[in-house]
Amino acid sequence: MSEFRLRAALLSCALFGLIAASPLAPSLATASNPMTIVLDERPAPRGLAYSHMTIPVKPGPFTIVYPEWIPGEHGPTGPLHDISELVVKANGTTIPWRRDKVDMYAFHIDVPPGVNTIDVDFTVLLNTANNFTDGQLATRNIMVGNWNRYLFYQPDINNEHYYVRASLILPPGWDYASALPVAARHGARIDFKTVTLETLVDSPTDSGRYYRHIKTWSDGKATTWLDLFADHPEDLKMPAKEIAEYKRMTPEAMALYGGRHWNVYHSELTLSDLIPGQGIEHHQSSDDRAGDTFVTNPLRQLTGGDLLTHEFSHSWNGKYRRPFDLQQPNFNEPFPEHTELLWQYEGMNQYIGDLLAFRTGIKGTGSKDYAEYLALIYANMLYETGRDTTPIIDLTTGAPYYYANGGPYHDMRRGAGDFYTEGELMWLDADTIIRQRTHGKKSLDTYCHIFAGGVSGPKVVTYTRSDIERYLGEVTPYNWHGFFQKYVYSIAPKPPSGMLARAGYRFVLNAKPNKYLSAEEKLRKFISSWFDVGVNLSDTGRIEGVRQNSAAWNVGLAPGETIVAIGDRQFTPALWRAAVKNSSASTRPIALIVQHDENYKKVNLNYRGGPKIPHLVRIPGTPDMLADIVRPHAK
Ligand SMILES: [Zn+2]
Repeated sequence: MSEFRLRAALLSCALFGLIAASPLAPSLATASNPMTIVLDERPAPRGLAYSHMTIPVKPGPFTIVYPEWIPGEHGPTGPLHDISELVVKANGTTIPWRRDKVDMYAFHIDVPPGVNTIDVDFTVLLNTANNFTDGQLATRNIMVGNWNRYLFYQPDINNEHYYVRASLILPPGWDYASALPVAARHGARIDFKTVTLETLVDSPTDSGRYYRHIKTWSDGKATTWLDLFADHPEDLKMPAKEIAEYKRMTPEAMALYGGRHWNVYHSELTLSDLIPGQGIEHHQSSDDRAGDTFVTNPLRQLTGGDLLTHEFSHSWNGKYRRPFDLQQPNFNEPFPEHTELLWQYEGMNQYIGDLLAFRTGIKGTGSKDYAEYLALIYANMLYETGRDTTPIIDLTTGAPYYYANGGPYHDMRRGAGDFYTEGELMWLDADTIIRQRTHGKKSLDTYCHIFAGGVSGPKVVTYTRSDIERYLGEVTPYNWHGFFQKYVYSIAPKPPSGMLARAGYRFVLNAKPNKYLSAEEKLRKFISSWFDVGVNLSDTGRIEGVRQNSAAWNVGLAPGETIVAIGDRQFTPALWRAAVKNSSASTRPIALIVQHDENYKKVNLNYRGGPKIPHLVRIPGTPDMLADIVRPHAK
């Protein structure tokens, strides 16, 4: 973020009270005279898309804006850098445009007298890596379609009162998926019905050459779909057992939340190793991006099977129920999103997404599997030294920039991912408190029914922190304000931990492999010695991370260095694992030769503890609360 943007954001925060009340401009794009957009995806296989728009205007100085704050991305991530060849015409005559000197997303024009519609044409570059939601969005066979990338609109309007009629032109032989209502289809051209700008941007439209549409559920009034788009036809061969698990996703989610706020729902899943992984939530669909073999390799379901369940859960928690200051009238200044309540929006959603992934059997079944998974995320949060200086509230408040974090020393700096992972632990803690205090009669499901139950179409109902605490208090009286003050708004030296014993478990580290960690290691070709020696290594010995205050840290090992030899033998994963294993019986340090750029050094690693891998073990004679938490709940 440029220093100016910071000043603008601070200014907007200060003025928030005022701005919230500041009048919005009357929309010129009405239901009878909407803005129109034709998205031509035919050049997508070579990484381009053409946008042809008509925008209602008024004569005189006029401004059009490109969407900046993108819902679901929680930041000013609108890919301004990916637009090119912008041409504005009035009655067929090109008129000059000039970008605002301060707000880079605003473009000024002078509309000639008598003109009330302009034509706007531009080209979008689909495969330029810039920020976390960017990167490759199209391949020879697939295109991820987010409408915010392909439009300009009138500033200062309310998205709910600004109307758009959109059309799509597909490459030959391709098909698409979207929650947008269709007016007509003529071969490769689809004309959608007029909707609000809010609904259009909330309705991603994925397309591809190799596709599969699976109806996963319907009660005759509402229907859910799983739409697959793959780079290779063989990657669409989803096993019947797995399809059956995904067919349980809707009934389990409706049982958990007690209703629905969608009339149709499309889980739009692209399967390509060329498109970076991602999941973006919407009311009636989700934009999900995973690797080639996501539905054909069981290990990928084990490690990432909460992708669709997480995004689906957001239809209730995030889209229907939304933080009061995250919900904004449009996508541009002076209405930046405020993200401090993401500990509910994403934190609880991480827990619910995993619950649904276990209740359906997608990511594992039963308390044994969930306990194994929980042990891993608990250990990661427990060993994070950054927790001694940075509270969760800073991670949520600073989310627009924490999402862009990458690289080593994550445990010191922390990141957006922490309010997901620690959020799961915190909400599991809340769930077990409710279950214990109500003797199992109530649970977090009860809270979810209060928070987001009922049946309606897509709409937004906002909430505040005190609403959350009040709803929880309705489930069971407890110092919920203090609970969040401790785990979100204050430095918490330890992650939420009370839920382990309450659920009948104890955290241990031992030499036994952890099913979920082993799967991650296999898929990402790395070696985790994070909880013992304090390093993560690639299969070739490259140090990918060093844990602060660990044995590796204490001998000065650093990310980017490479362990080339153990003793006098060349590094291999097996040799490393053997060295760690034998360390518990050894009296001598582990002798390493380490390369740092063109330099080599000998290092004596003083570690004697053997392998330390996280697990949860049952406390004998106690009820297994996790078993009830992850059992299927749908009738
Ligand atoms: Zn999420």
